[in-house]
Amino acid sequence: MKLILLGAPGSGKGTLAKKITKDFEIPQISTGDMFRQFASEGSELGLKLKSYMDSGKLVPDEVTIEILKARISKDDCKNGFILDGFPRTVPQAEALKSLCEIDSVILVDLAFEEIIKRLVSRRVCPSCGDIDNSEYEGYTGKCRKCGTPLYQRDDDKLETVKNRLEVYEKNTAPLINFYSDRLFKVSSKGTPEETYAPVKTFLSNLED
Ligand code: AMP
Repeated sequence: MKLILLGAPGSGKGTLAKKITKDFEIPQISTGDMFRQFASEGSELGLKLKSYMDSGKLVPDEVTIEILKARISKDDCKNGFILDGFPRTVPQAEALKSLCEIDSVILVDLAFEEIIKRLVSRRVCPSCGDIDNSEYEGYTGKCRKCGTPLYQRDDDKLETVKNRLEVYEKNTAPLINFYSDRLFKVSSKGTPEETYAPVKTFLSNLED
């Protein structure tokens, strides 16, 4: 099963991807996570990627497509994958089309005001990648899964969040039309479980 999660940054794609990965045993491929990993390694490429990310701009298509292409050719992608944060532009979608057939595109929908609220309070575990929120009940600043202190991503600061939403509107939202023949739309207004329930039913039917 080859899936794309489409939606604005902060709409809940990563959280949803983790649930799908667990139940359907296909890897989550997040270009953002891959870029952050490169950036943390401090190579020349990594530093360049970091400068794009920190300002909320998109990494150029050529670089992004090459990295994605290498990733999906790995063995663990043989039975499918979930793309989280790719494609983000029409040229990326065209490049993907020439590589493989996507079964379904899940559009995660949330109002921008709610996204801004969620993103500026989002916290991430540097160790296991778990996502939490400083406004959620029981938040302690430490990862609920492994106890590591959580951090705020540099690009989750308010000004960068606004830039990222503008970039989404301009470059990524046109993909809703591009994939109109295979789109499944879900609202992420509720809890992660409420968001996941209809997606799970949809994907189970898709598998049969
Ligand atoms: P994310 O974690 O998906 O929000 O991505 C964080 C940042 O990585 C984005 O703001 C972009 O700078 C960069 N990025 C991630 N995926 C892509 C992509 N498909 N195309 C271009 N830039 C990307």
